[in-house]
Amino acid sequence: MKNKNFNLQYLRKTCFISRYKYGNDIVDLGEYILSYATSCNLGCEYCYLNFVKTPSKPVLYENKDFLFKEIEEFIETQNEKYFYLNCGETADSLLTIEHTLLAEGIIDFLSTMAGEYNKNVTIEIRTKTNNVEKMINVGNKNVKVVFATSLIPENIRKTVEPLVSCVDERIENLIKAIDKGMLLGLRFEPIIIRNLDNRNTEIVIKEMMSEYEELIRKTSDLISDNKDKIHTISLSLLRFTKKQFKQLVDRKSNIVWPEMVLCPDGKYRYSRPIRIEIYKNLVELLKKYFGNSIVNKIYLAIEFDYIWKACGLEIRRITDFW
Ligand code: SF4
Repeated sequence: MKNKNFNLQYLRKTCFISRYKYGNDIVDLGEYILSYATSCNLGCEYCYLNFVKTPSKPVLYENKDFLFKEIEEFIETQNEKYFYLNCGETADSLLTIEHTLLAEGIIDFLSTMAGEYNKNVTIEIRTKTNNVEKMINVGNKNVKVVFATSLIPENIRKTVEPLVSCVDERIENLIKAIDKGMLLGLRFEPIIIRNLDNRNTEIVIKEMMSEYEELIRKTSDLISDNKDKIHTISLSLLRFTKKQFKQLVDRKSNIVWPEMVLCPDGKYRYSRPIRIEIYKNLVELLKKYFGNSIVNKIYLAIEFDYIWKACGLEIRRITDFW
C-alpha cells in the first residue's frame, strides 16, 4: 500500500523500543524511545533528522505485529515499575492521520499491558501538527498520555519551522489535548538565539526574553484553568552534532553561532554562562506566570548536571514526575 506523503512498505529490522542515549555527562532522564515511524517531511531547519541517514519519505513501519509483541515483552520483562516512552524522537508522532491511528492503537495496547503487568506507563506524543483534534479521548486509559508540543516565539518559528503549525495553533492544541484526557508537556525547545548581526549579545538576549515572556504569558492565559494538567515543562537550548554544525556554518545559516562550544558529549552549544543566564531567566518567567510551584515541573533536556544546579533545579528523572 502506498501513500504519496509517506511510505508504508518498510519493515523495522531493529528494536522498536530503545533506551535514549544521552551522551557523556548529560543528565540521564531515563526515557525510552518508541520508534513506530521514522523520518519527517516538515523540514525544521535545526532537525537532526535532516543530517542523518533516513529514508527520503517518512516511514510508518508495516510490521506492527512485531511492534506489539515487543511492547508486551518490554513491559513484562523490564524490572522498573515506571516507564516513560517518548514517541517523538525519530518522527513527528502525529505526522499523518495514519501515524495518529497507530499512536492510538499503541496507547490502547499499552493501557491493556500496564493493567495486566501492573506497571505505571507514560507515553509522550510529540507533535507540531494539528492532528490532536483527530485523536480519540484517552481519558479512560490505564496509561498517562502526555501531549507535548514545542513552543518557540512566532517570529523565529516562521524562519526555522515554516511548514508546521503556528504557535497560536499549538497553544490551542494544548486545550484540545486536555479535552481528550491528556496531560501536557510544554516543550520550550529548541531555544534559539537569533543571529547577532553585529549587535551586542546582551541586547539580543534581552529582546529574546521579552519574546519568551509574551509566549509564556499567552500560554499561561490560555490554560489558566488547567495548570494542574501540566505534566512537565522542558527547556533546551539549541545544540548541534559536529556534522550539523559544520554544514550549517558552511551554508551560513542564521541559526548557527560560529562561537558555539564543543561539549564533552560531542555537541555544539552556546557557552556555559549564556546557557545558565537564559535558563535562569526562563525559570523566573515561568514562576511569574505559572506560580512558584511550577519549578517542580521543570527539567532541562540534554544538559549537564552543573547547568541544572546553577539554575537551582533539582536533578530528576522523567519518571520522577509521575
Ligand atoms: S516536526 Fe519534528 S521531526 Fe519533523 S522536521 Fe520538525 S523537528 Fe524534525
